[in-house]
Amino acid sequence: MKEIKYRDWTLRVAEVETQRIYKELKQSGAESCGCTSCLNFIKLREEAYPDEVKLLISNLGIDIQKEIEISDFGSLEDGRHLYSGWFHFKGNFDGFNCSSSMVEGNGHLDLNPISESFSLGFRYANNKTPLKGVEGLVQIEFCCKLAWLD
Ligand SMILES: [Zn+2]
Repeated sequence: MKEIKYRDWTLRVAEVETQRIYKELKQSGAESCGCTSCLNFIKLREEAYPDEVKLLISNLGIDIQKEIEISDFGSLEDGRHLYSGWFHFKGNFDGFNCSSSMVEGNGHLDLNPISESFSLGFRYANNKTPLKGVEGLVQIEFCCKLAWLD
């Protein structure tokens, strides 16, 4: 497995398998939903991720255009919308697990701020994964604040 150091984490990824998974995935969660919130995210996808996160995603063999799921938590005081979403990759990691304060799926994720508008974390989960029969997925959780385009 390919080992990647990112901030305080060490990530190990089955890169070829992860690339295959994303190649076979027809479209992102946002595209298969198609609601106004998801369309807004798609328009701003390029600026949603800080450069270091784009690099990480690409090093993991993930297609950044194909996030598994996106949710819109509504507008903030400054008019931007708070989104959360996730990616999967096949592998494992050492370092802080963002679901460590959750109990039986309840509670909140502790995400690390990467920029003013973006935070992320890692945990073991396979929520809504379109990947059948794939064990051992790491879920990259993220939150971002994005403008609302009319
Ligand atoms: Zn949607």
